[in-house]
Amino acid sequence: MNQSFTLSNDKVLLDKEYPLFSELTNMEHEQLVFCSRPEVGLKAIVAIHDTTLGPALGGTRMWHYHSEDEAIKDVLRLSRGMTYKAAISGLNFGGGKAVIIGDSRTDKTEAMFRAFGKFIDGLAGRYITAEDVGMTEREMSWIHFETNHVTGIPKSLGGGGDPSPVTAYGVYMGMKAAAKRAYGSDSLSGKRIGIQGAGSVATHLARYLKNENATLFVTDIFKEKAQKLADETGAKSVTPDDIYTLDLHIFSPCALGGVINSDTIPHLSCDIIAGGANNILDDEKKHARMLQDREILFTPDYVINAGGIINISTELQNEGYNEKLAMERTSEIYNTVLKIFEYADTQNLTPVEASNLLAEDRIQKVSSLQSIYKPKHTHST
Ligand code: NAD
Repeated sequence: MNQSFTLSNDKVLLDKEYPLFSELTNMEHEQLVFCSRPEVGLKAIVAIHDTTLGPALGGTRMWHYHSEDEAIKDVLRLSRGMTYKAAISGLNFGGGKAVIIGDSRTDKTEAMFRAFGKFIDGLAGRYITAEDVGMTEREMSWIHFETNHVTGIPKSLGGGGDPSPVTAYGVYMGMKAAAKRAYGSDSLSGKRIGIQGAGSVATHLARYLKNENATLFVTDIFKEKAQKLADETGAKSVTPDDIYTLDLHIFSPCALGGVINSDTIPHLSCDIIAGGANNILDDEKKHARMLQDREILFTPDYVINAGGIINISTELQNEGYNEKLAMERTSEIYNTVLKIFEYADTQNLTPVEASNLLAEDRIQKVSSLQSIYKPKHTHST
């Protein structure tokens, strides 16, 4: 990491005087935007990580962060992940994400989301939003009153609706690929699978897994949500702490990030981690290595949870939303995961390192094409 920036007049600015810019440099972000409208309770942050491949695409998360620092850290990590997710999925989009500080159960109003929509519109298409944790189609409709740079809007408005069913399908396909790798068969029948979080992605994932006769365990910080999902799918509801210590074939974190860390790894008893949450590893490099040492196969989260971005990306095609195409492209996650495991093997890398390199390689190669002159008005995407 750089320790200082040198200006032309020989004045040296130490990073510690500009920690936020230092962080942006370190994580290679382009832009961080703070949006404030106290009258409607809006405190939002938009992070645009990289737009080499196209406009930054990624959802908005509403969460009761304990501090601004926590919200900034989250939006920086999430937006960076979106760059890699779009790249590895073969999409022509860059990475971005937004967070709104607040309680999604009590604080949402039309005015708040219309204000947010106006701020997004001001970014003139550099950032396009959608649902993430704490969001529904209703809020996307409110944002849509003020800007076209929003996806995940209801099907009645020409959108693809909530992307989480497609996200879950991708996680399911990625999980099957991991099983194929670990057990030689991609059947999940009889496998003991623990799902953390009983939200949108987890619910749809649990339905796929139930249909394949997996033995399911679910948890949520809201006990009633876990119980509801357990009642529907025949799963056993367990406490948020117990999910880490269960004897499982597959652990599927589908809540928030950072849950696989130095505290939790020693307690895990599973062969595979394959979940829908973003940034599952607290420290990508260190914890991927720790899992490798424990012979736990980690399936890179941004690869297998890409169904959502694949789904919303089809809303942005000239032809409009196409569910069949979204599902077909999402099923490709199976092959992408196998390709990553193979590359990791041949290069002696962790799956995350392998996936990062493949994503960066695509960004770099597409970027280098910009040196080819193309007359204007000859192509539409
Ligand atoms: P959601 O808000 O519907 O569900 C999240 C659930 O996790 C909530 O029920 C919450 O109470 C629970 N939770 C939070 N912390 C927990 C903990 N420590 N232990 C147990 N439960 C906990 O959100 P979602 O849309 O299902 O998204 C889940 C994850 O998947 C997020 O990390 C999100 O970024 C990621 N993701 C979602 C999509 C999508 O299409 N929705 C796409 C890609 C990635």
